[in-house]
Amino acid sequence: MGIPLLLNIAAYPLLSSLESRDCGPCKEICSTFPCEHTECTDADYLQDKEEELRDCRLHKELWECFNSLKDPASTLKAEMSQETWGQHEIKFARCRCLIEKEETIQREIAEKEDRLLKEWEEFEENQREYWDQQDRWDYLEWLQEEEDRRWCEEQQSYDDELT
Ligand SMILES: [Zn+2]
Repeated sequence: MGIPLLLNIAAYPLLSSLESRDCGPCKEICSTFPCEHTECTDADYLQDKEEELRDCRLHKELWECFNSLKDPASTLKAEMSQETWGQHEIKFARCRCLIEKEETIQREIAEKEDRLLKEWEEFEENQREYWDQQDRWDYLEWLQEEEDRRWCEEQQSYDDELT
């Protein structure tokens, strides 16, 4: 892997925003994007997702145009202004790449989901252990208090006997 994952957050202002991210059970958001929690770090995939967030209607139209290429009977291109078609056409190469990489991308997404799920499970397990530990401490503290109280009472009765 030649490209470091420390990419610019400004390149994906919507995807990297707090609302779009889930960095695991600790509820802290990593300072970089994409981060280890990003479902897929493929640049084409991220760009496509960013555009979908920015304007889902336009994004849908792009894929409709791209998919219409497979259908020789499609009239979509003819129905559209040259300008609109042209603005989608410059992204067809990326669409083609995404189709070619689809399997790899889906695998990465599935792996990330598994990892995030494990992170949650570990977090819950740790929470449980923490509270078990707290319960034991509470009990020990109570025992100590009881002992102190008894000792005080004994002292008191001893003092009483003396006077
Ligand atoms: Zn993260």
